[in-house]
Order: sequence, then C-alpha cells, then structure tokens
Amino acid sequence: IVEAVDVQKSFGPLEVLKGINLSVGKGEVVCLLGPSGSGKSTFLRCINHLERMTRGRILVDGQLIGYHERGDALHEMSGKELAVQRRDIGMVFQRFNLFAHQDVLTNISQPPILNRGKSREEAVARARELLKMVDLEGRGSAYPYQLSGGQQQRVAIARALAMNPKLMLFDEPTSALDPELVGEVLSVMRKLAADGMTMIVVTHELSFARDVADRIVFMDQGVVVEEGPARDVLDNPRQERTQAFLRRMH
Ligand code: ATP
Ligand code: MG
Repeated sequence: IVEAVDVQKSFGPLEVLKGINLSVGKGEVVCLLGPSGSGKSTFLRCINHLERMTRGRILVDGQLIGYHERGDALHEMSGKELAVQRRDIGMVFQRFNLFAHQDVLTNISQPPILNRGKSREEAVARARELLKMVDLEGRGSAYPYQLSGGQQQRVAIARALAMNPKLMLFDEPTSALDPELVGEVLSVMRKLAADGMTMIVVTHELSFARDVADRIVFMDQGVVVEEGPARDVLDNPRQERTQAFLRRMH
C-alpha cells in the first residue's frame, strides 16, 4: 500500500535522505529504527508531504503523494488536494497534538465532521467506540490538560483513527512519556496491529518492535542499512552499523 522509491531530501547542503526505498504491504507493520539524526522523522513526514522531497516519489494506495504527473513533469498539489490525500494517512507524533480548548469527544469527532462530511451523530457514536478501544470509555468530556500524557496520546491515536485512515504513521509515540505510561500506549498500538492496520512506526521500543513488527528497517545517515523480519534484524544483525546501534540500546 506504500511504495517509496529513491526518496531524497536535502536541507540546503545537508543531505538527510539519500535514496530511501521502501514498500509496505496492506496490514503490514514496519518499525523504523536508527540513531538520532538518521532521517527517520523526515522520511515519515515525506509520506504525507509535510516535507517536500528533493527527489523520488511515494505512492500510497496507488496515489502519488503531493504531486500530479503531467507528461514527465510533476506539479505540486494544491493545499486542498493535499488535505484530501492526508485524510487517508493518520499520524501520531511524539507530542500529543490535541486541541487544548476542546474536550476529548470533540477532539475525536470534529475531524470526520469537517473533513469527511460525517453527521455529528455518526461521528460522536464512532468517537465513543474509539474511546472504548483506547481504554478511555467515559472520558469524553475531559479536557486534554486533565489527562495524563499516556491518556492524551491514546486520544491522539483515537483521533487519527476517526478519519478511517488506510495507513498510520507513528513518530516515537512513547518517547515523551513517563516510563510507567509507555505500556498503555503500546498496548493500544498492539491492538491496532492485530486488527490489521497498516503501520509505520518509528520507535526505540525494541520489545514492541520484536513482538509486533512484521519487518524492521534500520536507517543510518539517510540510507536503509538493513531490513528484514524483526527477529533476524534484532537478534542477528548483519551490518556492523546495526550491531553497534543495538549494542548501544541494551
Ligand atoms: P531523532 O531520532 O533524533 O528523532 P531522526 O532520525 O528522526 O532523529 P530527523 O529529524 O529526520 O532525524 O533529522 C535528520 C537530519 O535532518 C538531522 O540532521 C536534522 O538536524 C536535519 N533536519 C531535520 N529537519 C530539518 C529542517 N527543517 N531544517 C534543517 N535541517 C533539518
Ligand atoms: Mg525523529
């Protein structure tokens, strides 16, 4: 469902992505690992065109992201068209980006009303279902500041899911949380994976990656150094850079 071909990205003279190739099948969970600065966030952001690639292309569900192709030229989409494309791609960041002045139920139900033309009744009913799914049944009238970081992050996941995305991107969803709150967020993500959601997850949680990922992609300095089934990459890394990274993680 995701096809990234030769994705390159520079910030000025700094080459951050040097030709990333990645395919992700429907229902597949891919964990993206790598040292700080290796380009993981930049790559994720390219997938929904929050970052403009310097070269390469990304298809999600057969659709070219961010551009129209006319002849052999690419034309960037309008903001409106981008918004339509992004409806299908959920993203959860390190910092829970909830609307502080809206209660939980509104945070979750508003986007599908505004962007998918859902009725209020339908959106609210779905929001309640999702709250149950993330173990926050009955907390719909709370405001974000009244929730723990783990609870806020679970609301952020529910909000992304309310749009019925085809793909979920997670950028270190647990790394801003107190250690005791990490598990509750990972368990929601496990549930999602078990339900068949296609996910690309940047994480440093190796046990989550081992249990949940169908595949691990290890990046360093803007290239994919190694990829394969979770157990192969984590237990028997072939590349020296992967080995060194994993040694530092233990
Ligand atoms: P981390 O594990 O710390 O989150 P990362 O693998 O996600 O790291 P990126 O955030 O993608 O790495 O950054 C890759 C490189 O690109 C870094 O050197 C970073 O400083 C640089 N970079 C990222 N965004 C920008 C930007 N908007 N302008 C200039 N340089 C940037
Ligand atoms: Mg990052």
